[in-house]
Amino acid sequence: MVWQRNVIIKTSEEIEIMRQAGHINALVHETVRNLIQPGITTAELDAVAEQVIRDHGGAPTFKGYPGPYPFPATLTISINEALVHGIPGKKRLQSGDLVSIDCGTTYKGFVADSAISVGVGEIPKKARRLLEVTEKALQIGISKMQAGNRVGDISAAIQEYVESHGYSVPREYTGHGVGRQMHEAPQVPNFGSAGRGLVLRPGITLAIEPMLLAGAYKTRVLPDQWTVVSADGSLTAHFEHTVAVTENGPQILTILDESYRLNSKRLV
Ligand code: MG
Ligand code: MG
Repeated sequence: MVWQRNVIIKTSEEIEIMRQAGHINALVHETVRNLIQPGITTAELDAVAEQVIRDHGGAPTFKGYPGPYPFPATLTISINEALVHGIPGKKRLQSGDLVSIDCGTTYKGFVADSAISVGVGEIPKKARRLLEVTEKALQIGISKMQAGNRVGDISAAIQEYVESHGYSVPREYTGHGVGRQMHEAPQVPNFGSAGRGLVLRPGITLAIEPMLLAGAYKTRVLPDQWTVVSADGSLTAHFEHTVAVTENGPQILTILDESYRLNSKRLV
């Protein structure tokens, strides 16, 4: 396929910038996670997220992102049956909700993209189990990001693990290459066949993002034209990291880096 020839290999200097973007993105997630509690609105979380990004010299990648209409916020916040692309607003979080927060930061021309899912207050056991399996699916996908492996090895490993727990993955929404653009080649589906697809090599940077539905894999889009929900109303969860393939295995770029935190001047 043509798009497989358009994969953009990053230099180590470019990956270092993406690591800085990823640090800012991780700071957003840490900050927002600490604010999540019953009663807070999703718009309040969004405002804090934008401030964290701008305080560190970044720009919110999602804001204005092209779609049915430009995405209006810094975060996508997707609650319970909402899988991805929920729009922050006046809605207040309630105890028992399962909320997925996705964020992108553009810093010095490069993008970091990552997502977490969090329970609000006390959540049911079935929600905790879905969270655990989704986060583990992300780790399993990342572990397949070895030079010489193929994209299909990532996809198949995620699908096999998820389906072995009785959950499903959407067909319409996938992981992706990431770099100067949030969405670059290749697509990284959460389903597929091992041994197929692009061969991974050092300098490839991917957003790995298992999205899980507790029920069937079908989704639909709400009338706001952005929010994707499970078609059967089942609970969903989403975790994501931006990860580089290196000679020494996969390196997660969207984690807190204490050396940046201690010397924040490196980031502005
Ligand atoms: Mg994302
Ligand atoms: Mg993504």
